[in-house]
Amino acid sequence: MKYVLFKRKYSYHAIAAIVFTVAMLAWMFFFRESLAVSRARYKQMTGLERLEYNNANIEETDEKLADHIRVPLPGNYREADVSTYVEPVSRIITIYIPKVTENFIYDNPIMGCETGITGLEAGPSDLGMRLQIRTEVLQEPVLTFEDRYMYISFKDPKEVYDKIVVVDAGHGGDDPGMSAQDTREADLNLTIAKYLQDLLEDKGIKVYMTRTEDVSTSLEQRVDLANSLEADAFISVHCNAQKDDEDTLMGTQVFYNAEDTSGASLRLAELCMDSVTSAFESNRLLCSKGNDIYIIRESKIPVALVEVGFMTNEAEMAKLLSPEYQRNAALGIADGVLKAYDRGIIHND
Ligand SMILES: [Zn+2]
Repeated sequence: MKYVLFKRKYSYHAIAAIVFTVAMLAWMFFFRESLAVSRARYKQMTGLERLEYNNANIEETDEKLADHIRVPLPGNYREADVSTYVEPVSRIITIYIPKVTENFIYDNPIMGCETGITGLEAGPSDLGMRLQIRTEVLQEPVLTFEDRYMYISFKDPKEVYDKIVVVDAGHGGDDPGMSAQDTREADLNLTIAKYLQDLLEDKGIKVYMTRTEDVSTSLEQRVDLANSLEADAFISVHCNAQKDDEDTLMGTQVFYNAEDTSGASLRLAELCMDSVTSAFESNRLLCSKGNDIYIIRESKIPVALVEVGFMTNEAEMAKLLSPEYQRNAALGIADGVLKAYDRGIIHND
């Protein structure tokens, strides 16, 4: 009897030991699997998923991770080679880090703060590693370099720049605007707007463009950019067209927001009108109430929409096609904006 009891006891222990061992092995196997996903699966994750995964699974004591994104760099990196670009409408910050190989990217985890980040992609490109970060609200990246890491933090544009103007090149992409002599208004507007950007930035004013290429940007996106930034001024560049199949009208027309009770929009529009028309002796048309124009109606900051000249008028269209005339148009608008700053019409807080 004792023998039998002993035998049963022994077999219970053996079964328990086997069950325990199997459970341990299974647990270890799955635990290991959850700690180290396969390289293929890791590469398939979005950059943001990888960031979250790394944060959750890698033990770290670096305090800067609380408010920075930390990007590992190879030993031979040069800080000066790193380039950044902020696209304000999509709120995508692109950072190129040369000399970083594909293997390095996947072997060296990016970690850090996920707050305010709605997208992150890190991968190889012709220019080395391309890191793209999409932020919830428009932010400017601040890069610092320490040991073999690049740390990224973010600042509100107003903390970085004293003066900010949003420049809008009308139309673009699916919407060419007016067309005349094989030229699309969208392209003319963009050329003038880019000159304007350069001129204002030369004077220390930060310019955010609603577009810098031939792309479709909605009216809502354009005015949202100006409003969310609380920029000093919102300048929209267009070329005009006479609607009644006539070509009698020529000259410059500027639209303003008549519901801007401060009067800043009207005064900004008048200054642009004065400066543009004197810059190239164009015919001065009226400053017009623009409240049936969406971006003017919705603008919460001083706004001026400058219709540089009429594409429907053959003589004026010939001028509009000349780079010199385009530059003069931009010079005129820039001069109007600068005068508005000087006179405290904009940026008067
Ligand atoms: Zn237009």
